[in-house]
Amino acid sequence: MINVTRSFLPEFKEYSDMIKEIWENNHLTNRGPLAQRLEKEICKKIDTRNLLFVSNGTIAIQLAIKALEISGEVITTPFSYVATTTSLLWENCKPIFCDINEHTFCIDAEKIEQLITSKTTAILATHVYGIPCDIEKIELIAKKYNLKVIYDAAHAFGVTYKGQSILNYGDVSTCSFHATKLFHTIEGGSITTQDADLLKKITLLHSFGHVGDEYYTEGINGKNSEFHAAMGLCNLPKLELLIKSRKESSELYSELLNLTKIRRPIIPAETEYNYAYYPVVFESEEILLKVKSKLSENQVNSRRYFFPSLNKLHYLEHSNPCPISEDVANRVLCLPLYFSIEPSAIKTISNIVNEAI
Ligand SMILES: *Cc1c(COP(=O)(O)O)cnc(C)c1O
Repeated sequence: MINVTRSFLPEFKEYSDMIKEIWENNHLTNRGPLAQRLEKEICKKIDTRNLLFVSNGTIAIQLAIKALEISGEVITTPFSYVATTTSLLWENCKPIFCDINEHTFCIDAEKIEQLITSKTTAILATHVYGIPCDIEKIELIAKKYNLKVIYDAAHAFGVTYKGQSILNYGDVSTCSFHATKLFHTIEGGSITTQDADLLKKITLLHSFGHVGDEYYTEGINGKNSEFHAAMGLCNLPKLELLIKSRKESSELYSELLNLTKIRRPIIPAETEYNYAYYPVVFESEEILLKVKSKLSENQVNSRRYFFPSLNKLHYLEHSNPCPISEDVANRVLCLPLYFSIEPSAIKTISNIVNEAI
């Protein structure tokens, strides 16, 4: 069975050596020494500042919404993982879906302005598959209308745009370090911002809103453990290797697949991409279903990622049509891609896909 993803694991000994320290100092969680070391190491590695390691990528978005005091309507992308939308709902914000750009599959910045009302307070956009949003245009709109910007960068760890870590853009960028992501800490996530005071506030919020006996504000538990941090410390030095391996696998897919009948997203200029996923868009949903079932007959598990378009979630009270997102969501499949996937597996998969289309 070839799965769509496979978590990277360091050598067992490497991890067990890393967690020895936990037994020595009996510090298990609450932003302990390993968590703080991981924060520093990530900042060094990807050249960012003010990063907080949290328990997952979803609480990261919710903490950002809370800390930036976002309320009312938030313009967001319909083409993302469901957590992008549910984070807004959970924080009592109303998601206003803006259709996506047909080339990058990220929010179409040209269509944001027409959705702004007196109730709009923020933009929450995803660098989907690790592809940067139209950051400049979004920044201009945000300035003009005094809106906050949060980037859900859950797929984008290791991506740079114009020579900067992608996490350095927006008022806040959040990331997920879930086991299925390119770089992982089993469960985990991060929050980055250029505003050191804001990060202080978020740090307080992620730890129940109190420090010792001083109770400052209503917080939540967004802390992560030393065991998770240890996994991150083992995996982080391999980031280049993880990206390189995915790049080679992606290039092999692109070489073998019949790309005249498959559409691929376009990576904007001045991006150093992380090859987090290998999405392919077929000519119709019918063809997608045929490919998916042929793959599955051959023990290959692909995934309809992302489907459905989030504006179609049945529990939304309000929604607006997003024809491009709905169309792409109906026809897109992510092919298996993970560290050290065998070239022979990629060949098999490509042959099955080519035959089915
Ligand atoms: C994975 C993911 C999340 C959620 O991250 P968790 O760490 O699993 O909570 C949020 N947004 C996107 C786009 C994701 O892919």
